[in-house]
Parts: sequence; C-alpha cells; structure tokens
Amino acid sequence: MSNINKDLTLFNELVEALINEEAKNPVAERIEASELYDTIDLSLNQSAMIDDDFKTTLQNVLVATPKTATNLFFNQLFGGRQSKAVIGDLLAVLLNNSMYTYKVAGPQVGIEQEIIRQSCKLVGYGSNSNGTFPTGGSMSNYMGLIMGRDAKDPNCRLDGMTKQLIIYTSKESHYSNAKNASFAGIGRNNIRYIKADSKGRMIPDLLEDQIKQDIKNGGIPTYVNATAGTTVLGAFDPIDKIADITEKYKIWLHVDGAYCGSLIFSTKYKHLLKGVERSNSFSYNAHKMLGTPLSCSIILVNDKKQLYDSFSNDASYLYQTDGDDFNLGKTSFQCGRRNDALKFWTLWKSVGTNGLEKIVDKQFDLANFALEYIRSNSDYKLYSFDNSISVCFNYKNIDPTALCTALYEEQITVVGFGSFENDTFIRLVTINANNEKQDILNFFKVLEDFVAKTPNLLKLKS
Ligand SMILES: *Cc1c(COP(=O)(O)O)cnc(C)c1O
Repeated sequence: MSNINKDLTLFNELVEALINEEAKNPVAERIEASELYDTIDLSLNQSAMIDDDFKTTLQNVLVATPKTATNLFFNQLFGGRQSKAVIGDLLAVLLNNSMYTYKVAGPQVGIEQEIIRQSCKLVGYGSNSNGTFPTGGSMSNYMGLIMGRDAKDPNCRLDGMTKQLIIYTSKESHYSNAKNASFAGIGRNNIRYIKADSKGRMIPDLLEDQIKQDIKNGGIPTYVNATAGTTVLGAFDPIDKIADITEKYKIWLHVDGAYCGSLIFSTKYKHLLKGVERSNSFSYNAHKMLGTPLSCSIILVNDKKQLYDSFSNDASYLYQTDGDDFNLGKTSFQCGRRNDALKFWTLWKSVGTNGLEKIVDKQFDLANFALEYIRSNSDYKLYSFDNSISVCFNYKNIDPTALCTALYEEQITVVGFGSFENDTFIRLVTINANNEKQDILNFFKVLEDFVAKTPNLLKLKS
C-alpha cells in the first residue's frame, strides 16, 4: 500500500508540472463554484484507483487551484513562496512530530524555542519572556485575550465570569477580536470599538475617555488590542501612547502584528512599532510578511508566568519526562500540535536575520514604487498612506468591486477590495518579496489593458 520512494517520485513530477503551470498561467482557470463537482472529479469511491488515473486527477486539481505564489496574485495578506521555508515544511510533514513533549519532538523543541528567544530579543522583551506557536493570528489574539482576562481576574479560571470585564480595540482591527470576546466568555457587548483617525490608527485619547467612562459605570477595563498593520490600510496604532494608558490603568496590552509585526526585523521600519517592548504580549505571522507557508504564527509574552498560568494543565499520561521548559505542551492551546517552527527556522537559518530584513524591506520598496506610479497618473486615485504595503486606489473612478470581480473572473489578476470610512477601493498588497518592480508595473498594465478592452466597466462608476 505504501511506497514512499515511489510516491516521492510522483510528488516531484507533480511539483515540476505545477511550477511550469504557474509560469505559463499565473492565474488559474476559474471554475464556477456551482459547476465545481461537475468539472473535476473530486468524488471518493468504493474501489481503489489505478496509479495513472490517480496522477491525472491530482494534476487536474493542481491546475485548477488558485495560484497564490505567482506574480499576479495580490489578493491576500500572503503571497509568493520562500523555497527555503517550503523545504522546512515538507520535512516537518515527513518527520511528523507533535510539539507537546521533548520525548516526541526532541531537537524540534529547541528550534521552536530558538525562534521564540530571538523574536523576544528583537521585540525588546526581557529574560522572563517566552511564547508559543498558535494556529494563526486569530488564535494568537485569543491567547492574548485569555492571558489578559486571567491576569485581571485569576478566579475566572475556576469560577467562570463573575465580573463585567471590558476590552478595547480599534474599529479597524481584525474581526477575530469579536469572536474571541464571545469565546472567552467576555461577550461581544463588552468590546469597545475605539475610533480611528483619518489614517486608520486608534485614537489614544478616545481610548482613555472610554476607559474612564467604563470605570465610572462599574466595568473592569481588562485588555487592549493594538494593531500593527490593520487588515485594510496596513495602519499602525500608536503603541507607545497606548502603553501609557494601559500602564496607568493596569490593563493588558496585546499587539496584534499578524500582518506587519515582522517589522521587528527591519532597522528602517521598526519605528512603526515604537513602544512594542512595553506590551504584555505580541504576535506576528511569519506566513504573511516573511513568506513561509501557512500557518506560521507566533505569540510572545513579556512574562512567561502568564502564559503558563493560563495554559498549563497537568496530564500524567503525557508529561512523563524532561522539565516544563522542554515540554512545550505546557504553554500551548492544543494538545497534539503541528510543527510550524521548522519552516521558519530553515528560512531564517539559511538567509540570516539580515535576509529576513531584506524580505521585509523589499515589500516596502515595491509598495513605494506602486505609490509613485499611482501618484503620477491622474487616472488613479489613492486612498492609502505612506509606510504601508497595502496600496489602496481606484482607477478611472470604476466601481472597485465590479473591477476586482471582473479581473478575477477573466483570469487577468487576483486582487481584492477594501473599505475605509465611506470609501471602497482596490487593495494591492505588495507582500510577495519575490516580485520585482517590473511585476508591479505589469499589474497596472494588465489592469489598464483590461479596462481598455472592457468599455462596459467604465459605465460602472462608483
Ligand atoms: C491576518 C490577520 C489576523 C488573523 O490571522 P490568521 O492567521 O489568518 O488567523 C489577525 N490580525 C490581523 C491584523 C491580520 O492581518
């Protein structure tokens, strides 16, 4: 039944076909969702499949799957492919460890810890810091919230919620904050959404006003979520000013850097995170700016006791050898846990910290190039700001939702749209560090050519 050598040969053939396909057709042929099951054979059947048919079926699936690594994919807060990280992830699959104990993960424990140690240093956390690899940025926010909740009301872990705990985030923050409030037992009605300024950054004075009002009404301000790189505009909340407030009122400060927290690697841009060392917890997604395969999310905690207090549990059937420092299950949400560290480590090890800095800075070079192009061309209107790799614009005043949908349906390029205040616009995310300026120019060119050939779009003015 199983023949790994033979299957790896098949794997290599499929990879070669995929890479060729990506070069030939950077945007996958789109299958109408309602026709999916009639177009490719996805059925699971009673009898085995012969090898040749198996291979053909896999090829058909690969060709039809959206291609996120090509130079025409700008739709998401990830893109491209760092091959040194891909190797690490493939090895993690073959090794198939679980990260909960040293007995089962061995050196992989040290790999994860080394990434956490180095990241803590870059953030500016002290020697009591630690962290873990949650399933993603949403889960990182959740773990941050749980630690904040338990720090404010330790009894909560035993008795459940007995007080009105209040949490704060900006209107522009990630939607996981709302879900997490409900999961954590705090409740969606106990989130205060603080208004952002004209550039999408939380307004600290309004945060403090809201905190004072909640205290007056008997609520307990518990947790502030600041965003480093908001999902639409890529804006940075003023962490330093927010930390003045959270320190004054003894509130947990979590910095959600899922999108742009990787700026800890950039000498040139880390000023955008000023004050991050004053936070209680900080998270970033290496699968976004650093280009590792999904998922690779890291949460760091200034005081590791908080992580341990909220997430450890005794389990004599599991923790039988080695100390807690090596049994990472004592500080994770999951029990069995995938090895997300190895892919980041193979990348970091091979390109060095300087290489990671270059990956991050490159994205800003590409964004600045796109900004210049937009600013120097009167057919475009710009909606985003400097120091962001989310470049937001409209072209010839065409309805951006219609244009993005048409570009996708006609397999021209894959790009999304977003909204801020009363405006909706196309959002070009220059997160693929494998792209060059030429690829950005090409994006604008294919968009302009498409509009020129599709005069109906011009009637759809926004
Ligand atoms: C992407 C993102 C998240 C969610 O991360 P996932 O890994 O997709 O769960 C959270 N916050 C921000 C600001 C993000 O950009």
